[in-house]
Amino acid sequence: MDRNQELFARAQQSIPGGVNSPVRAFKAVGGTPAFIEKAQGAYLWDANGQRYIDYIGSWGPMILGHGHPEVLAAVERAAREGLSFGAPTEREIELAEEILKLVPSMEMVRLVNSGTEASMSAIRLARGATGRKKIVKFEGCYHGHADALLVKAGSGLATFGHATSAGVPEEVVQDTLVLEYNNPAQLEEAFARHGSEIACVIMEPIAGNMNFVRASIPFMRAARQLCSQSGALLIIDEVMTGFRVALGGAQSLYAQAIAGFAPDLTVLGKVIGGGMPLAAFGGPRHVMEQLAPQGPVYQAGTLSGNPVATACGLATLRLIQAPEFHARLAERTRQLVEGLRQAAADAGITLSVDSEGGLFGFFLLPELPQNYAEVMRSDSARFNQLFHGLLRRGVYLAPALYEAGFVSAAHTEQDIAATIAAARDAFADMAA
Ligand code: PMP
Repeated sequence: MDRNQELFARAQQSIPGGVNSPVRAFKAVGGTPAFIEKAQGAYLWDANGQRYIDYIGSWGPMILGHGHPEVLAAVERAAREGLSFGAPTEREIELAEEILKLVPSMEMVRLVNSGTEASMSAIRLARGATGRKKIVKFEGCYHGHADALLVKAGSGLATFGHATSAGVPEEVVQDTLVLEYNNPAQLEEAFARHGSEIACVIMEPIAGNMNFVRASIPFMRAARQLCSQSGALLIIDEVMTGFRVALGGAQSLYAQAIAGFAPDLTVLGKVIGGGMPLAAFGGPRHVMEQLAPQGPVYQAGTLSGNPVATACGLATLRLIQAPEFHARLAERTRQLVEGLRQAAADAGITLSVDSEGGLFGFFLLPELPQNYAEVMRSDSARFNQLFHGLLRRGVYLAPALYEAGFVSAAHTEQDIAATIAAARDAFADMAA
């Protein structure tokens, strides 16, 4: 009896598509999703008792691996003190102070419950602070499912507002301008036409929602300069990259390459909650003080700053500051992608790979793509074959070719070697 199949059939009776977030349904890759029963370290176990090496890590939060004893102890202690108060706590200050210490571009931070809320609120704040309406986002970047951000790009500059989802009225997205990632000339043209009306540019610094695509240095420099010249705010969405690609996030890497680089607002999530619902947005004091109750931009949350979530996040952020934590994570991740590239090459399959810290991507393409259109040149049938080849062999990758991968500090060299051995077999099947 396959318990995954049984549970999937049952789930579809009571939950739309059987899942509470679409990608979990394996729709892109086909087949039955693994229903997870438990996790420890680098491993997940499904309802059949099958063990997997986990390269999703709950889509990013589990940077320490599952079930880290110090994190669990902090969560248990906090839970006993109270699950939720709806009132301020000292721990929220501690977490805020920790975040501000690690991300110096932020002078103040507001805690929320999800990346969606954080991006949505950052956009509202940018519009409120500038008194402008238009926002710029890039094709292939995901910032959560707030209405104004659920816009697909058309090609070409003047394509305002075509909602990607039913239920999003055209009027709600008519001020969202979607541009090509890594195209500074197009961004320049957009500012030449609409600069005085643009409230903000929001971007993923390494786009993890189209697999793994780095913002080029010229692109990031152009975004910073154009925003500064026109009085728009640059919002860097580090929900995925924050505390993962480097302790100071992707912005710390761009600051090494671009003198004086800093975003105006930063959006954080995933790792800051360590696996509990927690996210944040922050920036300079004069902008953040536009938020209620001090300022006119409303934003709130019953469970925001939740005492158990903040305990989990704080324990996680403290542990990832151990000496060499990110250097070791980066090295392990590099071993993985280089091993995958080599295994593919030995089977006569072209694979391009990239990684930064504990975030990685790979493409069944000869070169790393620079934007969404190039990512979509990947052969999805071949990706699906690879995905299932690995899943069968106990390796759990993201079930879609446009998702990044995640390595944790709990992944050992043996885990990486076992993954590469499984990949050799999967590539051999593909080549046959
Ligand atoms: N921004 C980015 C860059 C993300 O990757 C995600 C989620 N994967 C979000 C925002 C939305 O976060 P959440 O799912 O917590 O709403």
